[in-house]
Amino acid sequence: MFKKVILLTLAGIITYSCATVPVTGRRQLNLINNSEILPLSYDQYEQVLKESKLSDNKEWTAMVKRSGKRIKMAAEQHMKDIGAEGQLEGYDWTFNLLESETVNAWCMPGGKVAFYTGIMPICATEEGVAVVMGHEVAHAIANHSRERMSQGMITNGLGSVLGTAIGSDPTLTQEIFMQSVGIGSQLGMLKFSRTHESEADKIGLIFMAIAGYNPQEAPRFWQRMNDNANGERPPEFLSTHPNPETRIDDLNAALPEAMKYYKK
Ligand SMILES: [Zn+2]
Repeated sequence: MFKKVILLTLAGIITYSCATVPVTGRRQLNLINNSEILPLSYDQYEQVLKESKLSDNKEWTAMVKRSGKRIKMAAEQHMKDIGAEGQLEGYDWTFNLLESETVNAWCMPGGKVAFYTGIMPICATEEGVAVVMGHEVAHAIANHSRERMSQGMITNGLGSVLGTAIGSDPTLTQEIFMQSVGIGSQLGMLKFSRTHESEADKIGLIFMAIAGYNPQEAPRFWQRMNDNANGERPPEFLSTHPNPETRIDDLNAALPEAMKYYKK
């Protein structure tokens, strides 16, 4: 009987603590408010900036900032169109290009984006930058970090979640943030699951199309990424995708839908 009550409570929490991912409509676990996550994210981003060197390549920096702004506006427009603009409350978009040979880019909760100079030759053009930017902005819009944190809260023991009002324990919240967002051990390495990566690819394609970038560049960009890996250890950005061919196939399958949003 007692067990049944606990199960029902658990089911209740999960049922009432779900959010819907824009564009894909996937239901996701949501046990914590953005108002609790975003300040942690902004602090962490400031910290990374303090420890990094901004690129002095003016042309590349301008490309990152311009495509960031265009894709952010596209995402905001889309959220408005589907009546979900309220989900973007507290977002504070920032786009920076950091000096590092690492082939990577990431976005922290609330829209804090960083590109490393190492990815720029593979992006090659602003359209290429937009492929990565669309993907990163999609992670933020789809609240993938929040979902990971919510899953982390379950893993860390529902007891503490039930015992304290969710998120009201700042130490626990901070700890789970660091675990879930995965920063600290290595400079800005965000770890997402394959579900999150595929979802970000799909949403990113739509955002770049709305922003006026040709989404057909996406499979071409990922091909260049694969060629760059050269059969050796893949760059970090590919590490959660053991099968790059599947990624390109999935992108090609999602293209017709994205092309509907693309106006030349
Ligand atoms: Zn990703």
